[in-house]
Amino acid sequence: MSSSAAFGAMVLLGALHLTGCSDDGGGGGSGGSGGEPSGSGSGTSGSVTSGDPGGTTSASTAGTGGAGTGTGTGTGGNDGEGGGGSDGGGLVVDSGLPTPPGPGGVARPSGAPGGFKVIDWAGFAAAVSYTFDDSNSSQIQNYDALNDLGVPFTFYLQTGKNESNDPVWQRALEDGHELGNHTKSHSSQDAGGADTDAATQFIESKFGIKVWTMAAPNGSSDYTGIARTRFLINRGVANALIGPNDNTDPFTLPCFIPPTGASTSVFDEQVTTARSAKKWRTVLVHGFTGGSDGAFQPVPLQAFLDHVQHAKDFGDVWIDSVVNVGAYWRGQKAVGAATSTQSGGDTTLTWQLPDHFPPGKYVRVTVTGGTLKQNGVPLAWDPHGYYEVALDPESVTLSP
Ligand SMILES: [Zn+2]
Repeated sequence: MSSSAAFGAMVLLGALHLTGCSDDGGGGGSGGSGGEPSGSGSGTSGSVTSGDPGGTTSASTAGTGGAGTGTGTGTGGNDGEGGGGSDGGGLVVDSGLPTPPGPGGVARPSGAPGGFKVIDWAGFAAAVSYTFDDSNSSQIQNYDALNDLGVPFTFYLQTGKNESNDPVWQRALEDGHELGNHTKSHSSQDAGGADTDAATQFIESKFGIKVWTMAAPNGSSDYTGIARTRFLINRGVANALIGPNDNTDPFTLPCFIPPTGASTSVFDEQVTTARSAKKWRTVLVHGFTGGSDGAFQPVPLQAFLDHVQHAKDFGDVWIDSVVNVGAYWRGQKAVGAATSTQSGGDTTLTWQLPDHFPPGKYVRVTVTGGTLKQNGVPLAWDPHGYYEVALDPESVTLSP
């Protein structure tokens, strides 16, 4: 899947459907009448699942089955999960995760049941999230150029600023970006969390979404405890890499802040090292050179655009919003800490998701063999080399 197609798939999140992903490729296309009650798919261009010979489910069809409350406007195709339908069927889902690099064609594991393992970064070598703080006007003025990169960003709104009323943020939401909380007043202290909650209320009432992540103003440690009772993640300001299953505090998540006037290569180095280490890097840009917003350490727009293009060109770096990568990272840890119980030949893993965890998220897992089931339904093998396990059920069973 191309990056733009992956991006399209992301905004179709929630369009769950059961297709007949059969060996002969026929009989598909029966999905699409469902759609989750909270389905966000209302793709205007639809998304024929080209990887599934029989599948004709479109995003718009899936969306109409739900409550139709979504605002997603998928513009890209979704090349689907089937990849030729080489497995024995099972539940095919739109996990919202982009297709990882590689040609696919990986055979379904046929050994002894066991070896359950969540794969890092959804099958990519590393992950990067780009964040923009402070609702700065130079972000707004350059939004189209940023959005044209075709990857999801996270915009942390400082809701007391008039710029937070700009219509660009509604567009950003519809384009698949994340809107997060950067408080109303940008103070380094927030006794009781009132200023944080004011920003949440602004965003939730204005855009009709739930806020999952925040960024602490000035990276203040005052927000570590505030975020813990409200959010999945709080991004701080100290730079470090984040590893799968490491002990990074999700409520003081590290990030890289480029120096004033940073060149493309300064940005590139951050992604190169993340890729070598197979870890997650978050990046914080406040604004762009030449703006009148007083942005902290502004950078040249073209240097940033060129850098993101380089990161995309690697092909094996997962570029996504903080909530999307963060839910995978924390979801992997939750599943890794699962309790295992045996019954007959079945092994059932049961986990507990963290508080303030977004619904509809998935992890990708491998096994040495056997059949994975959730709620009694077998999961489909994806020939890119994994099963997609829904996190919401908080359990999965491996059977012979
Ligand atoms: Zn700020």
